[in-house]
Amino acid sequence: MKKELKIYLASPRGFCAGVKRAIDIVEKSISKFGSPVYVRHEIVHNKQVVEELKQKGAIFVDELSDIKDGKRPVIFSAHGVPKSVPEEAKLKNLSFVDATCPLVSKVHRESEQLNKNGFEILLIGHKNHPEVVGTMGQLPKDSIKLIETKKDAEALNVNDFKKPLAYITQTTLSVDDTAEIINCLKRKFPKIKGPVKEDICYATTNRQLAVKKIASKCDMFFVVGSRNSSNSVRLVEVAKKAGCKNSQLMHSEKEIPLKDIDKSDTIGISSGASAPEKLVQTLLNNIKKDRKVSIEEVVVAEEKVVFKLPKELN
Ligand code: SF4
Repeated sequence: MKKELKIYLASPRGFCAGVKRAIDIVEKSISKFGSPVYVRHEIVHNKQVVEELKQKGAIFVDELSDIKDGKRPVIFSAHGVPKSVPEEAKLKNLSFVDATCPLVSKVHRESEQLNKNGFEILLIGHKNHPEVVGTMGQLPKDSIKLIETKKDAEALNVNDFKKPLAYITQTTLSVDDTAEIINCLKRKFPKIKGPVKEDICYATTNRQLAVKKIASKCDMFFVVGSRNSSNSVRLVEVAKKAGCKNSQLMHSEKEIPLKDIDKSDTIGISSGASAPEKLVQTLLNNIKKDRKVSIEEVVVAEEKVVFKLPKELN
């Protein structure tokens, strides 16, 4: 007889509005312009999504210089691009569609506005993440200083800044870790200006809240998502911090640790904003082969956000 296993399923989980829009943009571009269409960088950080889009006629490139046929359109990924990229595309006469998530574009506009109003800008985020590269690239080199950790914030020298100071953040950070960094900045620079509406997006916040609610009840916690997906990796950290030490990222190369699951009575499952729901269902079906599963979905928020497609595709 199969042993019982309780599974808490976090909700919301998986695709956010920005990811759905970006995938839609690639699919609609293929139907409107025919294949192939080029996509600069992974459209969203998920291998399966990228593979499926390749099958449909997308060619993924690292840089515009890798595009072999300049008559085909190119799509910019959901993470956003430095200003130099559309500029280069225009110089090369490439037609392009920008799939940058509107919530990332919001941070881009904030940086421009702050710069225009004479602020020095700190960006809280992870070095080399495409979103950070894109945000820093909205302004001339060295206009934005990157803060990755609380230690970085502590090391700032009050006298280093001649102009008023402001901060912006990456959209997919840990809500709690970022709050610590912001508190540290506010202690050091009481007049520092922050965004009117915070930059960490609704999807990141909701997914972390749902994980926090269930992680402490679980012997193991799985986050379905890719290794380069910032918000998926953050969910694993959040689950660990919330009390489930054995929290793991279920990326495409990882085998399901069925032996460990066998020793567990309760597990939790969530997925990053770029992970398709079918991967969660595959994980559940595999677990169900060995265990008598009862699933409780824990819903912390209803998401109704939908972003419009760019005008080129309407
Ligand atoms: S995680 Fe947030 S910022 Fe990133 S694509 Fe989704 S909605 Fe946009």
